[in-house]
Amino acid sequence: MTRGERLAKVVTERELDQLFVSDLTNVRYLTGFTGTNGACLIGGDELIFFTDFRYTERAAHEVGPEWERPEAERELIPQIVGRISGRVGFEDAHLSVRQLARLEAATEAGVELIPAGDLVEQLRAVKEPGELERIAAAAELADEVYRWALERGMVGRTERDVAHACEARLRELGAEPSFPPIVAAGANGALPHAEPGDREIGAGELVVFDMGALLDGYCSDCTRTYATGEVSDDAREVYELVLRAQMAALGAIRAGVAGKEADAVPREMIAEAGHGDHFGHGTGHGVGLEVHEGPRLGTTSEDHLAENNVVTVEPGVYMPGRFGVRIEDLVVVTADGHRNLSGLPKELQVVG
Ligand code: ZN
Ligand code: ZN
Repeated sequence: MTRGERLAKVVTERELDQLFVSDLTNVRYLTGFTGTNGACLIGGDELIFFTDFRYTERAAHEVGPEWERPEAERELIPQIVGRISGRVGFEDAHLSVRQLARLEAATEAGVELIPAGDLVEQLRAVKEPGELERIAAAAELADEVYRWALERGMVGRTERDVAHACEARLRELGAEPSFPPIVAAGANGALPHAEPGDREIGAGELVVFDMGALLDGYCSDCTRTYATGEVSDDAREVYELVLRAQMAALGAIRAGVAGKEADAVPREMIAEAGHGDHFGHGTGHGVGLEVHEGPRLGTTSEDHLAENNVVTVEPGVYMPGRFGVRIEDLVVVTADGHRNLSGLPKELQVVG
């Protein structure tokens, strides 16, 4: 069964007649289309793909034969309106207010528009073998760039220089960064989403280093925290705590576990050690076509892990004004555990 056909089944199960897919990443997932103006309508026996004249050639190569491809104008909504009927789900997390208004204005009596946010995302969360291979290849390539960066050293260079060099290296190796790399030394490491700056990396600091590759359409995501020489006892203590919490969280990963439960494991360990207030983000997130997707491992997550989800496991402790530690692996969820795609060591490594 193709992805479109699988989605058509879900649409029926949700008692919708059709689903209007407007998010381009979802469109790409379903059809293979990589252009920047496309949408789909799925329901009943119909799989319809819309794009405009600029992309008809591309669509002919990329979009599978199961999709009907009517001619459309640059503005797709009027064409779509002509094909909708009954209960029509739309992607409320993506469709703009303006697009929805246009859709509603043009909709005939008898058509009911229903927010149906994450149906494609739920399919996307469970990876096919070919997707797992691509994500593993992206993770491996990022590991290679980490090793390369460590060999070049960090002390005396700015955070930005280290980050930019890694981005360039990723590109040399045929990938892109899956997000702008984070290189955060010393007190900057206490900001979970620090932007690499002009700060020179000194000796005896902790450096939070978060980087992923985008290869063949799929992302990876990995964080390591390194020491540039001897660090304080409490920096080392916090490092050991985060490592223990990360290992415990990995141990909790398997199909069927709630995202909330998996999150609670490292969170409780970190809280018991007195750092409950210093771990202000979720334990993990899904990774695939996008670097942040479902399922989520967090205190408010409603998700349950399923076999062949790909998720990060990334607890951290952030000591304001002083330092931060985060350790992040990328894993495939299996029936009884996980398979780790991150191949880098996790004992505190000292780099020059
Ligand atoms: Zn990351
Ligand atoms: Zn992450």
